[in-house]
Amino acid sequence: MRIGIIGAGFTGLSAAHNLLKNGHSVSIFEKDEGPGGLALGYQERDWNWSLEKHYHHWFTNDKAVLNLAKEINHKVIIKRPKTSVYVKGDIFQLDSPLAVLKFPYLSILERIRMGIVLAFLRYNPIWRPLEKINTKSFLQKTMGRRVYETIWEPQLINKFGGMEENISLAWFWARIRKRTAKLAYPQGGFLHFANALVSRIKELGGEFVFKTEVLELKENGGKVLLKTQGSEYEFDKVIVTLPSFFFIKIAPSLTGEYKEKLMKLKGLGAVNLVLRLKSSFLKDGTYWLSVCDKKSPIMAVVDHSNFMDVTNYNRDHIVYLGNYLPMNHRYFKMDAKAILKIYDPFLKKINEKYKSNLIGLEVFKAPFAQPIIPVNYSKMIPPFKTPITNVFLANIQQVYPWDRGTNYAVELGERVVDFMLNEK
Ligand SMILES: Cc1cc2nc3c(=O)[nH]c(=O)nc-3n(C[C@H](O)[C@H](O)[C@H](O)COP(=O)(O)OP(=O)(O)OC[C@H]3O[C@@H](n4cnc5c(N)ncnc54)[C@H](O)[C@@H]3O)c2cc1C
Repeated sequence: MRIGIIGAGFTGLSAAHNLLKNGHSVSIFEKDEGPGGLALGYQERDWNWSLEKHYHHWFTNDKAVLNLAKEINHKVIIKRPKTSVYVKGDIFQLDSPLAVLKFPYLSILERIRMGIVLAFLRYNPIWRPLEKINTKSFLQKTMGRRVYETIWEPQLINKFGGMEENISLAWFWARIRKRTAKLAYPQGGFLHFANALVSRIKELGGEFVFKTEVLELKENGGKVLLKTQGSEYEFDKVIVTLPSFFFIKIAPSLTGEYKEKLMKLKGLGAVNLVLRLKSSFLKDGTYWLSVCDKKSPIMAVVDHSNFMDVTNYNRDHIVYLGNYLPMNHRYFKMDAKAILKIYDPFLKKINEKYKSNLIGLEVFKAPFAQPIIPVNYSKMIPPFKTPITNVFLANIQQVYPWDRGTNYAVELGERVVDFMLNEK
């Protein structure tokens, strides 16, 4: 079969790889100039490695993507970086049961309660009954109001900005169950990994059409027609990997229940300010700092140089300042300097002299980056098969209960191909 794939993020790359291994012909359309989608990387002239526009790592149990790296002989680095929280102006390591017991801003009883609830979530393998439960009320009831307000509420607000009230406990369970203390990272960066996958796909006969946005998709006498600026392409089947909102935009013939289902799915965008510094920002060696402060303008500070060796980036120390925000937030219209001006007073609380070390500043924005996962989300997920004949949807909003990630994109690519090829 001749199959078209829209999007060269990890779902599209994985689907292409699997289709080609099954003997089909594949063309991938990507509006960006490179592969990787939300995990797309860039490389400064004097760096040996690429860097993701938005911070990325893998957990050591991310089997689908780690197996894929193995299959294409791409080296993976495994480390145990330090994960901490910022609470009441201080930084505390909080990435092990012992660290929870030592945490100073809660009473010993509160720490034990929190530890027991986290242990229950981590070791309970069954998530279905949890999806009916609201994370906020569960955490307040089981851990206590003060634990919730000190540790979890700021993080939920940061992750789901304004939509944190109705998040499914299945999502929270997945975050706790899946997390590993050791983290993995592809040698050379995610862009090098995605490029290695592109090379393998091309070796198998796949065709890439980069810098080409699909503007319209429609059924045409049993085939599927894709329109780009100035060209038209015909396929037997098409896999769409775009977030639902963008799928609706390119598929005007999509109507009825399926479209309504897509329109009910909500999400947030991401804004990441990337600082390049002469020395590290988080001096205690923390890689990931969750900011538990409702007044902070930043959700997470990710000091990449406390994870990957700075020599790969010509000794530039890289720090991400991350936020998930609604697409209409003013940061989406602001440049890097204007955003830094807002973040600056908070950053100085952590590292007063960081500005004298600043050698570069970039901002990266993604309009759709984080699906909102309300209670009973499994009933909201649209199926792969769309009402448009021979068009299949496989996107970030179908990943559940696990938090979306490149691992699940790879798995989704495998699943949609399996579904499509075995469809009766
Ligand atoms: C801030 C942030 C941090 C993250 N951290 C991690 C992490 O640590 N680890 C991890 O594994 N994952 C992480 N993720 C998630 C991960 O990046 C995504 O889950 C994954 O990349 C989704 O892949 P995808 O292929 O499904 O979608 P996407 O990556 O969104 O791919 C869709 C592709 O379609 C293209 N496209 C869109 N419209 C068109 C069109 N009309 N025509 C042609 N092409 C089009 C886009 O350019 C894009 O390349 C993070 C994401 C963000 C935003």
